[in-house]
Amino acid sequence: MRVYYDTDADVNLIKGKNVAIIGYGSQGHAHANNLKDSGAKNLAVGLRPGSAGVAKAEAAGLKVMDPADCAKWADVVMVLTPDEGQGDLYRDKLHANMKPGAALAFAHGLNVHFNLLDPRADIDVFMIAPKGPGHTVRSEYQRGGGVPCLVAVAQNPSGNALEVALSYASAIGGGKAGIIETTFKEECETDLFGEQVVLCGGLVELIKGGYETLVEAGYAPEMAYFECLHEVKLIVDLIYEGGIANMNYSISNTAEYGEYVSGPRIVNAETKAEMKRVLADIQSGRFARDWMLENKVNQTSFKAMRAKMGNHPIEQIGEKLRGMMPWIAKNALVDKSRN
Ligand code: NAD
Ligand code: MG
Ligand code: MG
Repeated sequence: MRVYYDTDADVNLIKGKNVAIIGYGSQGHAHANNLKDSGAKNLAVGLRPGSAGVAKAEAAGLKVMDPADCAKWADVVMVLTPDEGQGDLYRDKLHANMKPGAALAFAHGLNVHFNLLDPRADIDVFMIAPKGPGHTVRSEYQRGGGVPCLVAVAQNPSGNALEVALSYASAIGGGKAGIIETTFKEECETDLFGEQVVLCGGLVELIKGGYETLVEAGYAPEMAYFECLHEVKLIVDLIYEGGIANMNYSISNTAEYGEYVSGPRIVNAETKAEMKRVLADIQSGRFARDWMLENKVNQTSFKAMRAKMGNHPIEQIGEKLRGMMPWIAKNALVDKSRN
């Protein structure tokens, strides 16, 4: 597996191009501001008129244009709108408007891999997929670091797509941590698997299940919150810094023994069999099909599930307890008025 670093990329290549970032959400604000701080001058953010991102992007000193105008102007169009709307966006605003020989870029492979859009044959198609939330792509860059990125090329009529992609990745900070060469298929399937099974789906259910078990057994919700949610970060920081052994070095022998004897009772052979079924649904396209169907019915069950999660008692008790820890808000990655 090839990993590229800043020394393998010519960061000036992207600075010589007109770059349009469509969308100013989690990824969009990070890409646009990192590119700007890396010295890219010909930048535009593509947003629909009236969108909440317009004021945020303008406050950051960025030029905002209509997505169709972006497409007419840009040499590189990075699509950072929600995956579920990218097919319509491409068809309605980008397809006929993009300059001959321009490049269309993505931060996730879903639409290209599952053929939800069909890029024109004369344009390059590449992906720079940061392996972290957008707010972290920005905060790590500001700290002088970067988030690892995946790079893939799906269409390369210019013969230059990889060089441009690496330059783009370097300008958003990816070249400090590593830019890993992959394919749209591999990125898409592993990304969906990771977020569903471990990072978002698995982790949230583990936190909730632990919290509910303690509260149902009569323990104070405050205790359950600290034990099952707050401490997750403290533990994961140790794993992130030096692997599982680094965490085991820091925790007590009692905690480590409990990890070995009880952990496999929670995530067991049946859990792993289910992981394999989730992966099969991703690989077959079943998950992508279900998600697109959900969007055809106005995200009805998606919104209901979001509301249900938002009403979980762990969210209320968490808000109260975080209010007692003002340094958390002071160093917050997410500020909804700005990013
Ligand atoms: P988001 O929901 O945070 O932001 C979307 C932005 O697009 C908003 O500014 C919204 O106003 C704008 N938008 C929506 N429809 C639009 C349209 N038709 N025209 C113009 N602008 C429109 O999105 P996100 O989570 O940053 O995801 C963007 C892409 O990045 C997706 O492909 C996603 O898979 C990928 N990605 C996201 C993350 C992440 O951290 N969120 C990580 C890796 C990859
Ligand atoms: Mg993802
Ligand atoms: Mg303990």
